[in-house]
Amino acid sequence: MSTPLPQRPDHVYRGRFAPSPTGPLHFGSLLAALASYCDARHVGGQWLVRIEDVDGAREVSGAAESILQTLYRYGFRWDAEAPRQSTRSARYRQILDTLINAGLVYPCACSRQRLQHAPLGASGERVYPGYCRPASGAIIPFESHETAAWRLRVPETPCRFTDLVQGEQCQNLSDECGDFILKRRDGFYAYHLAVVVDDIDQGITDIVRGADLLTLTPRHLWLYECLGHPPPSYSHIPVAATPEGQKLSKQTRAPALPENPLPTLLAAWRFLAQAQPPQSFSTPDAFWNWAITHWNPNAIPRVISLPAPL
Ligand code: GLU
Repeated sequence: MSTPLPQRPDHVYRGRFAPSPTGPLHFGSLLAALASYCDARHVGGQWLVRIEDVDGAREVSGAAESILQTLYRYGFRWDAEAPRQSTRSARYRQILDTLINAGLVYPCACSRQRLQHAPLGASGERVYPGYCRPASGAIIPFESHETAAWRLRVPETPCRFTDLVQGEQCQNLSDECGDFILKRRDGFYAYHLAVVVDDIDQGITDIVRGADLLTLTPRHLWLYECLGHPPPSYSHIPVAATPEGQKLSKQTRAPALPENPLPTLLAAWRFLAQAQPPQSFSTPDAFWNWAITHWNPNAIPRVISLPAPL
């Protein structure tokens, strides 16, 4: 990271917002920003921003700058310069090599065609049948590093964790997705590897993000375990949905946030079922002062999605 933060004592809360620069900030992403910000600041914690541009193919030129400017205009203040995943390949490779050396990751040469008849998991994803999985203890040839995809072995045992909003979760990775990809054949590192390595390197203790990522969390927890690092706590907040029930996103043509922050900040606050403010606010700062004090994570609805108010 370009501006490393000092080592934090164990009790300090450090949260983050990690937008992908696929378009301007919209109401759906504002929810994750607001919830993670209030959750951190309410307990006097730190809050960081990071640009998740690991998948260069999806990046929209200028979106990262626009997101940071909008966050600033909406009154968010972060505690260190926002790093970009696109500058971190050497670090991801180092971690991938550690996992290869530990025999946890192996190269996969399967084509898309070969995988198209693999069974579907509970969330509709293809479950990798383990075609390229070597016998445990087999020596992995490093020369295939540049041309192969790399997959992480998953355990047969279920992953259980308590999400601070959604409650008890249980998922068996071998039924959900099978051995999953950490580095793609086209050379890009997968989101799963990047998000865990970045959260570890940024010292993130508490993750608050959209519930569309809930079913991916067991993959992240398994990576924490493989890397011998204690995991953060997770809070998955409901995502805003279109009238057709799809997640508000660039693909569903979510509009960019309006110039005037206050009505939208209040709409996001209400969406998360927070207390009605007793007064109106004249500036975003006045809103934040009140909101940070009155933030109540226990009031967040325990559902995966809710209709967007806008
Ligand atoms: N970059 C992801 C997104 O924009 C969020 C990842 C995360 O919060 O872990 O949806």
